[in-house]
Amino acid sequence: MKTDKQPHAIVIGGSMAGLLTARVLSDYFERVTIVERDPVQDQPESRKGQPQTRHLHALLSAGYEIVSTLFPGIEEELAAGGAIVGDPGATARWYQFGGWKKPFDSNMRGCLSSRPYLEWQVRRRVLALPNMRLLAPCEVKTLLTNEDDSRVVGAEIVHRGDGREAENLAADLVVDCAGRGSATPKWLDEWGYGRAPESRVKVNFAYSTRIYRRKPTDLPDAKTIMIAPTPPAKSGTFLFPIEGDRWIVTSGGMHGVEPPTDEAGFLEYIRNLPVSDIYNIISRAEPLSDITPHKFPFSLRRHYEKMKRFPAGLLVLGDAAASFNPIYGQGMSAAAMQAAALQKLLQKQGNTPTLWRSFFKQAAKIVDMPWQIAVGEDFRWAETEGPKPPGADLINRYTAYLHRVMEEDVVVGEQFLRVVHLMAAPPSLMSPRMLWRAWRWKRQQGKGTAVSAQPAAKPVRQN
Ligand SMILES: Cc1cc2nc3c(=O)[nH]c(=O)nc-3n(C[C@H](O)[C@H](O)[C@H](O)COP(=O)(O)OP(=O)(O)OC[C@H]3O[C@@H](n4cnc5c(N)ncnc54)[C@H](O)[C@@H]3O)c2cc1C
Repeated sequence: MKTDKQPHAIVIGGSMAGLLTARVLSDYFERVTIVERDPVQDQPESRKGQPQTRHLHALLSAGYEIVSTLFPGIEEELAAGGAIVGDPGATARWYQFGGWKKPFDSNMRGCLSSRPYLEWQVRRRVLALPNMRLLAPCEVKTLLTNEDDSRVVGAEIVHRGDGREAENLAADLVVDCAGRGSATPKWLDEWGYGRAPESRVKVNFAYSTRIYRRKPTDLPDAKTIMIAPTPPAKSGTFLFPIEGDRWIVTSGGMHGVEPPTDEAGFLEYIRNLPVSDIYNIISRAEPLSDITPHKFPFSLRRHYEKMKRFPAGLLVLGDAAASFNPIYGQGMSAAAMQAAALQKLLQKQGNTPTLWRSFFKQAAKIVDMPWQIAVGEDFRWAETEGPKPPGADLINRYTAYLHRVMEEDVVVGEQFLRVVHLMAAPPSLMSPRMLWRAWRWKRQQGKGTAVSAQPAAKPVRQN
């Protein structure tokens, strides 16, 4: 176990991946500096550098567990400001593949709030650490390396808007959490390392989001409604509660289907979904915002684990390394899982010159799970382009069955939800127990009899 602290670490980017990483580094470095390009206020807000934060963001159970561990008591702080912390098995109504999944009490927890609010609560906790400082608005222009470019030794930063000169900051470790636009590929090229191999899976996803006032009578028996697209259909809409007694409603479309951004068109898009549950609520609700669009062209993975050489003193984490089709809500949790892996490695081996090798190996294993789920699902649509995971078609046919089984069987429902929330690996859906339950459902369907599931998880209490 390593206990001696090195003097200084820099984190590029003060969004979710950067904040969680900074929290982890604060235990292993005397000082940690977060460098964020945007101005940052002490309040919930969407910044220019993270436009996606205006859209629905769910923190999955895997991410929520890590956030709760890194910041003890944050659950109460989030809830005190109006976030809804609860059991995603019990509180979600999920329509897909022609039916509603049966709700159940699970042992999982998740957090529903606006993304700016969640990030603000996390940022307050990070900035309260005695060895933490945030430089914002301030940009990392380039990284500083030693003579033969074998080690990153700091960063050149530019304070924005106050006319100060560029400044060089020395660092023992720099972690790039700058999101999809990360400059590490360019820097590696300049230093003669070449670029990490990339995987791109084209989904052409478009989002439109609007906030509405939420009344207690709007949805008395649940907290969220998800009407997800069933192929070949490409449209879906999610309705989630957020702090301030508000709904956030995000409509999505794949492969060229774009939810409208005008009032009448947005409502009509939602009215035309296979079920009218969201339409019934928002057609009567008071809008509190404009309708904001966002485009997400492709999921992107940079395979740093495949690089033979890499400079010491540099890591890449979060969307800068892998970003997924947002409909599955995985990005923040994948970043949290990578930050937790970094914590374990720093604890075990410290910031050694080969930390990058062990970190990227661990991070690749972590990213495999959300990537397999997101990209595998995306290949249900014939228009999806890119490297297709082996066996995706077969798995998709099988999980399409599971979607129907979950209308009745809460045992299958709970395991499926654990996978969706990154708490269990996708192969757990292929266990003999799951296969048997799927087979039994199919057989009962053939006989025209409904399956009576013997729940291990309790069916949810409807109040
Ligand atoms: C529409 C949409 C919906 C999503 N929904 C969900 C969801 O429901 N659940 C979920 O978990 N995830 C979701 N995600 C993904 C999630 O937003 C990201 O995974 C998450 O923000 C973590 O990203 P990050 O911190 O790695 O990068 P980003 O959030 O992109 O932040 C990068 C930061 O780095 C800063 N920066 C960039 N370059 C520099 C530089 N040179 N110097 C200084 N600062 C710099 C930027 O200003 C920015 O603040 C969604 C994504 C999209 C697009």
